[in-house]
Amino acid sequence: MDPLFAKLDLKTSCRALADLLMPRLCVVCGQVLNLREDYICMGCEMDFPYTHFWESTHNAMADEFNARILVPDGVHERYCYAAALFFYNSQSGYKNIPRQLKYNFKTAQGRLFARRLGDALAGAEHFLDVDAVVPVPLHWTRRWKRGYNQAEVIAEEVAAALGAPLRADFLKKPRRRSSQVAADAQSRASNISGAFKANVPEGVRHILIVDDTFTTGSTLAACYAALRECVPCQVRISVATLAFVKNN
Ligand SMILES: [Zn+2]
Repeated sequence: MDPLFAKLDLKTSCRALADLLMPRLCVVCGQVLNLREDYICMGCEMDFPYTHFWESTHNAMADEFNARILVPDGVHERYCYAAALFFYNSQSGYKNIPRQLKYNFKTAQGRLFARRLGDALAGAEHFLDVDAVVPVPLHWTRRWKRGYNQAEVIAEEVAAALGAPLRADFLKKPRRRSSQVAADAQSRASNISGAFKANVPEGVRHILIVDDTFTTGSTLAACYAALRECVPCQVRISVATLAFVKNN
């Protein structure tokens, strides 16, 4: 037996053997992972682009989101809290984290990063009174095809970390619209506006809407608008995502 294998326990030996047959790769840079690394290599871990948005009630994402939900007739909305775990731009390998969760069925990997988001939010005082975690819904045909809703995978981990119930029943997406991927900001916003329907029981005080990525904020704003239609302004609505897209 290889002396390296002789020193390893059974679980690690199995992983070593599996790695020989099919090496595991870093989600960010694609480099082969060593035995102690899970999903991300040490170098990419060291450079992990945390936003630290959860540390402050006012941040770039919250400002952007609040600008989106401003009501034109002058009705004052409460300033919404918003946070994402990490930044990425189009050149960054970190974009693979939400992408592989959404398109490549990498739910275990997605959960690892979703737990980090949950732990970060649980450490922030302004998210501690969240009493409903609501994933951005998919139209049922899309969910059926993919087998899961990526936003719900993230929301499950966030809800567990916050000790708050997951309420996937608060929001539905009854209308199916064309894919958002290629649309520009303006057509994304009109494409998604009015796509969601909400149903919230009485007694909820702080709703947290969860999605995979904040790009223009149009999807979250449409969810916000649907929820706001059925809850009074005293009910706080916040948003959280795994990633925040930086355009530079
Ligand atoms: Zn890496």
